[in-house]
Amino acid sequence: MNSYKDIRLYCKEREVTLVAVSKFQSIEKIKAIYDQGHRTFGENRVQEILLKKEQLPGDIQWHLIGHLQTNKVRQIIPHVDLIHSVDSLRLLKEIQKEAKKINRTTAVLLQIHIAQEETKYGLRSREAMDIAEYYSQSPQLFSHIRFCGLMGMASLVENEKQIRKEFSELRNLFHLLKDSYFLGNTDFREISMGMSGDYKIAIEEGSTLIRVGSLIFGNRPATNLS
Ligand SMILES: *Cc1c(COP(=O)(O)O)cnc(C)c1O
Repeated sequence: MNSYKDIRLYCKEREVTLVAVSKFQSIEKIKAIYDQGHRTFGENRVQEILLKKEQLPGDIQWHLIGHLQTNKVRQIIPHVDLIHSVDSLRLLKEIQKEAKKINRTTAVLLQIHIAQEETKYGLRSREAMDIAEYYSQSPQLFSHIRFCGLMGMASLVENEKQIRKEFSELRNLFHLLKDSYFLGNTDFREISMGMSGDYKIAIEEGSTLIRVGSLIFGNRPATNLS
C-alpha cells in the first residue's frame, strides 16, 4: 500500500489541495514524493526551507506552516508560495513592508486558534475580524499581501466530536469574514485544516487544503537537518 497515492487520490476526488509536510524529513524522502509528481511541500521552519530548497528542484512550491518571527520575514518571503501561519497584525505589517521592497505580493492565511490547548500561536476570532476590518478600511496598507483564507489546528484529542466542532468553528469564521470583508475577492477561498490524524473529518467540515506529514513520510525523525 502506498499511502501517498491513497491520500492524493482522496484529495483529488474531493478537490482538496494536499500539502505534503516534509519537516524533519530527508532530501531523499522528499525527492521520492516529488518523483511521484508532487509539488507542494510544507515546512514549519524558515531555515529548513532555505536549506532544502537549495537541494531540491526549483518547481517545488514551498508553504510555511509554522510560526514566523518578524525578523525572518525578509529572508523567507522570496522563497514561499503561501504562508499559513500569520498570527499577528505586526507580522502582517512586516510581510507587507518586505514584500513591497522586493515588489512581490505574498499570499497568506490567517492562523486562528481553535484548539482547547493553550498555545502561544493563532489569532482569536475577534482579532481576525479586527484585522479584516482594518484591511477593508485601508486596503492600500496591504498592497503586497494576498489574503487567501484561514488556517487552524484542532485539539490533539481522540474525541471526534470535539475536533469536528473546532473545524466547523473555523469554517463558520471563514464564511463570516468572507461575507463581511472579502466578498468578490476570489483569492480568499482557502480553509487550511486537517493533518494526518484528522484530515477526513476536516474535509467533511469544509477544508480546502490539508497538511499531511507522518501519514505520507512515516514518523518524523527526532532531530532535524540543521
Ligand atoms: C507538523 C505539522 C503538520 C503535519 O502533521 P502530521 O500529523 O505529521 O500530519 C500539519 N500542520 C502543521 C502546522 C504542522 O506543524
